[in-house]
Amino acid sequence: MRKALARDLAAHIRRLDEDLHISPHELPGGPARPAKKAAAPPKAPGAGSPATARAAAAPAPSGGLDSLETEVKSCRRCALGSHRLNAVFGVGSPSARVMFVGEGPGFQEDHRGEPFVGRSGQLLDKILDTVLGLKRSEVYIANIVKCHPMVNPDNPESHGNDRPPSPEEIAVCRPYLERQIALIKPACIVTLGSVATKVLLGVEEGISKVRGKWYVYPKTLFGGDADIKLLPTYHPAALLRNPKLKLDTWEDMKTLKSFLEGKTS
Ligand code: SF4
Repeated sequence: MRKALARDLAAHIRRLDEDLHISPHELPGGPARPAKKAAAPPKAPGAGSPATARAAAAPAPSGGLDSLETEVKSCRRCALGSHRLNAVFGVGSPSARVMFVGEGPGFQEDHRGEPFVGRSGQLLDKILDTVLGLKRSEVYIANIVKCHPMVNPDNPESHGNDRPPSPEEIAVCRPYLERQIALIKPACIVTLGSVATKVLLGVEEGISKVRGKWYVYPKTLFGGDADIKLLPTYHPAALLRNPKLKLDTWEDMKTLKSFLEGKTS
C-alpha cells in the first residue's frame, strides 16, 4: 500500500516537473522535509498590519457579477484608476467552488484586462491542469486591487514598472473583492502570495509560515451567507523566482484537491 502511494506521488510530481521544470534533486528521495504542523488558530481578519486596514465594511451586494464589473470598470476611487489601461475585474466561473486571489494586475494584465495572463498566469494554468485537473474557466481568479499599481504611473507601456499596492489602495478597493466573494460563494479561497494572504487573513507572518494550512474567512467580513475556508500558498511569480518552492506548492494543491474531492472538510 505504502509502495503504491509512493509510486503515485512520484508519478504526480514528475508530471508536474515536466510542466513546472522541477529539477531532479527536488523530487522525493531528496533531503527530508519537516512534518507539517497543525494550523494555528486564525487571527481576526482585518487586524494588525496597515496593509489590512479597511476603509469601510463591504457594501451589501446588489446586482450580479456583471453589474459589479461594470462598476469596477468605471471606478476612479483611488489614483490607480487614473493611470490604468484596463481595470482587471476577474475571470472564470461565477459558480466556481474555488476562488484564487492575488495581489493586483501587472503589465500584461493591465494590457489585456484579465488577471494572471503573463508568465505567472501561464504557470497557474499549468498547476490547475496538472494537479487539480481544472481549467481557468472552471475556477474564479481575481485580485485584491483591480488596477495596475505602477512605480511610474505615467508610463504604463514600460516593463518592470510593477509595485505592490499600497495599504490605502488596498483599503479602498477591497470591498469590490468582498462583493465578488459574496456573489460567487466559493467553497474555498486560495490566496496567492504574501500580500493577498495578509489582507484576507490579517496575519503578520510571511507566506512560508502560513501556507498549506486551512483558515476561516468569516462571513461577517464579506457579507456572505457562510464562512469560507481559506488556504494560503505561494504566488506563481515566487515559483518562477525560486523553483525550490514548487514542491511546497504542489503539496498545497494536493491539500486543495483533497478538499474539493470531499476527502477533507
Ligand atoms: S484600484 Fe480599485 S478602487 Fe482603485 S480605481 Fe481601480 S477599481 Fe477603483
